[in-house]
Amino acid sequence: MTPPDAAQPLALGATIGILGGGQLGRMSAMAAARLGFRCHIYAPEADSPAMQVSAAATVAGYEDVAALHRFAAAVDVVTYEFENVPAATLAALEGRVPCRPGPRALAICQDRLAEKQFLTEAGVPVAPWRAVTSEAELTAALAEIGLPAVLKTTRLGYDGRGQAALRRPEDAAPAFARLSPKPLILEAFVPFSAEISAIAARGLDGQLATYDAVENRHRHHILDLSFAPARLPPAVAGAARANVAKVAAALELVGIVALEMFLLPDGSLLGNEIAPRPHNSGHWTMDACSCSQFEQHIRAVAGLPLGPVTRHCDAVMRNLVGPEGLAAWPGLLARGDVVAHWYGKAEAQPGRKLGHANRLLAHGALAGLDDASACDGI
Ligand code: AMP
Repeated sequence: MTPPDAAQPLALGATIGILGGGQLGRMSAMAAARLGFRCHIYAPEADSPAMQVSAAATVAGYEDVAALHRFAAAVDVVTYEFENVPAATLAALEGRVPCRPGPRALAICQDRLAEKQFLTEAGVPVAPWRAVTSEAELTAALAEIGLPAVLKTTRLGYDGRGQAALRRPEDAAPAFARLSPKPLILEAFVPFSAEISAIAARGLDGQLATYDAVENRHRHHILDLSFAPARLPPAVAGAARANVAKVAAALELVGIVALEMFLLPDGSLLGNEIAPRPHNSGHWTMDACSCSQFEQHIRAVAGLPLGPVTRHCDAVMRNLVGPEGLAAWPGLLARGDVVAHWYGKAEAQPGRKLGHANRLLAHGALAGLDDASACDGI
C-alpha cells in the first residue's frame, strides 16, 4: 500500500489514532466522527472514556513496541490527548505514520525548564526561575529569587502535584527532601490577580487562529471554573491571545495549544504552562463557538482548513469533579441554560473530573456580572 501523502488532507473515512483514553480523547473522537473520520484509541486501560465512542481500540502499554507498530499500520495520522507521551513511544511511531504535533512540541512541554526557556525565546515573559538539582543550588537560587517562591518538579507535575510553596527559609529543606531526587525548578511566587488562559490552533499549512482568552478559578488545585471571555481590558485580552499565537508559531505545532498565564495587578501577563493539546479551559468552546477546540484540533491534524473561532455567546464552564459532580448532574440536565457533558468514567472518586457543564449567557452579559451571578448555581 502507498503511504498517504503527508501534506494532503485526510480523506473522509480515514482513521485518526489517538494516544490516551481520557475525556480529551473522547471529545476529540466525537468531533472527528462529525467530520467523517474514525478514531482508533491507544491506551493501557480498557473501556476508557475515549474508547467508548471510537471505532477501534488498542489496549496496550506505551512501551509495547509491537503493539505501537500495529497501531501505526492501522491509522492514517497519530495525535495525543496528553503531553507526557514517553519519547520511546513516539520513536516507535515516527517514520511509520505522521505524528501531530511532532516530538519537539512534546519535549518542550514535558519539561518545565525547556518550557520556560522556550517561552522566553518566543517573546512571552515568565517569572524569574532557577534550575535546582541539589540543596546547595536551592540555597543559592533562594538567595537570588527570594521568598515567597514555588519549588516544582520539572517533569510529570499536574494539578498542583509535584510542587511546594516556600514561605519561610525553614520550608526549603523539607520541600527539597519531598520532591528530590527529581530535577527541580524554583520559581518566584507570582502575586497574580487572576489566572488567564488562551488557546491557539495551528494548521498543517501554518494558518493560526486563537480563541478568546478566559479567566480560570481553581479549587483544591483542580480547575473549577472558566469564564469566557475573561473580564479584562481589551488590550490585555489581546495580549493574552497574542502570547498563545507566538507559542503556536514558535512550536511550529500542528494542532491545539493552550497557554496558562498569570495576570499581574498592573495588567501585565506572565506565561506559566503550555499544553500542546485540547485543554480543560477550552471546554466552553464546545457550546459557545461553532467550531470547538476539539474540532479545531482534528481539523489541524487531518490537514483541513481551520474553522471559525468566533464566540457566539458568553459562557461559564464548571468542572464536575468526584461525588459532588455526580450529585450535581441531574439538576444540571434540568436547566435550560446549561449544556452538560459526561465522560463515562467507571468511578466517581474524589478529585476525578467526571464531566463539565457550560452555562450559556447572552453575548456580552458576563462583563457586568460577579462570579456568583455568572455561575447562577451551576
Ligand atoms: P502549575 O502546575 O504550574 O500549573 O501550577 C498549579 C497552580 O499553582 C497554578 O495554577 C497557580 O495557581 C499556582 N502556581 C504555580 N506556580 C506559581 C507561581 N510561580 N506563583 C504563584 N502561584 C503559582
